[in-house]
Amino acid sequence: MTEPDLYEVVNPATEEVITTVELAGAAETDAAVARARAAFDTWRRVAPADRARLLRAFAAAVDADREHLAALEVANAGHTIGNARWEAGNARDVIEYYAAAPERLFGRQIPVAGGIDVTFQEPIGVVGVIVPWNFPMPIAAWALAPALAAGNTVIVKPAELTPLTALRLAELALRAGIPEGVLQVLPGRGPVVGQRFVTHPDVRKVVFTGSTRVGKAVMAGCADQVKPVTLELGGKSANIVFADADLAKAAATAPYAVFDNAGQDCCARSRILVEASAYEEFLALLEPAVHGVRVGDPTDEKTEMGPLISAAHRARVSSYVPDGAAVAIRGSAPDGPGFWYPPTVLAPVRHDDRAFTEEIFGPVVTVVPFRDEEDALRIANATEYGLSGSIWTRDLGRALRVSRGVEAGNLSVNSHSSVRYTTPFGGFKQSGLGRELGPDALDAFTQTKNVFISTEE
Ligand code: NDP
Repeated sequence: MTEPDLYEVVNPATEEVITTVELAGAAETDAAVARARAAFDTWRRVAPADRARLLRAFAAAVDADREHLAALEVANAGHTIGNARWEAGNARDVIEYYAAAPERLFGRQIPVAGGIDVTFQEPIGVVGVIVPWNFPMPIAAWALAPALAAGNTVIVKPAELTPLTALRLAELALRAGIPEGVLQVLPGRGPVVGQRFVTHPDVRKVVFTGSTRVGKAVMAGCADQVKPVTLELGGKSANIVFADADLAKAAATAPYAVFDNAGQDCCARSRILVEASAYEEFLALLEPAVHGVRVGDPTDEKTEMGPLISAAHRARVSSYVPDGAAVAIRGSAPDGPGFWYPPTVLAPVRHDDRAFTEEIFGPVVTVVPFRDEEDALRIANATEYGLSGSIWTRDLGRALRVSRGVEAGNLSVNSHSSVRYTTPFGGFKQSGLGRELGPDALDAFTQTKNVFISTEE
């Protein structure tokens, strides 16, 4: 008998150990894949209306458990209670939205000579979902809901740091009547469980959300079996503010577009680009907004920003603000236990400063001026990433021109919204491959089969 691999789950706001979780090894992963493979044969044959009913029951179970799920995420990930409630509600909404899919998974009938030709949207098989620690609930739900709706079975590997809400979602699915083996959650190490999803021939599709570095390795590994992948990777998104914008509103909202979830958000608008003629005025308006961000106890309803996820991550974030860095504005953060880091604005910064070019994934934002529309687009697009971004202007034509010009998958004009479960989400360039959410997410979890039926005598 080998010793179990036990992992201590830590509350990042207090540094206390909340619980211990047993991590799966390679043998447990293979056993889970075998269960998922066996369950696939029956799950894919469940009548569409029954699969829909089971998913609606799952959504209802998540709804009834929202406060509990939110409390787990506050304790495990340090998310503010307001955010954690939204995340639990988002998981419910996504499952409910795709519960409508089994009965609407249409094929096509295509005119041909000598018979009829129809297409079927077939499930792929066992889907392995690798989830990061920054949004454990929504990111798991965005993959598992459409995958299950399309008739696949799913194994979720949560991040080692944040397994608790995913484990709870699996319990709720079972309680709602989803059969054993259809949805499994397997806590484990990335290079062990996650990597096995890549190499195991019975895992037929991998969904990965996390760093671009690991995402590239996952994609390269999947190539060996021509295994389809969906990738949601990093970002270094631009918040472009033109001088004709509502500057007060742009400045008041800019901190929340980057400091939400303590900046641990792939959509964080971590580069603020301001038209030169409005640069000083914008910085003056930004200062009180940054000081206004309430950082502290995530269980407090009024708190707007919690801690970073771990001591190691805080050290990584701090490295972007070395002694002597041009800190233009700095907010507050609690002393004492917890992996706290204050909201920080860097200005001026050089365009080749790593704080301006690399994903920091913490509450650090850079502000640079631009000359005109063309210059704004040049700076915004001078990155390997292309996930999201915002454009602030009162000129509708410019808003559309710049929206079309920014190389990113999710843009918002005069707001900072990125994610709605009814609309597609995903990245350009090295921010990802494929789209999640919205009406077309089923495409990523089905394959088209074409059948010709002869009508010849
Ligand atoms: P990773 O990319 O290492 O982790 C994301 C997920 O992948 C985790 O579940 C991890 O497992 C798993 N994983 C790690 N290595 C492998 C592997 N070889 N094969 C398969 N799966 C693997 O991100 P980090 O947590 O290390 O964060 C580092 C940086 O990445 C962040 O600072 C941020 O810049 C970026 N990031 C971006 C995210 C996004 O939403 N786009 C999300 C998270 C991070 P485990 O951690 O459990 O070992």
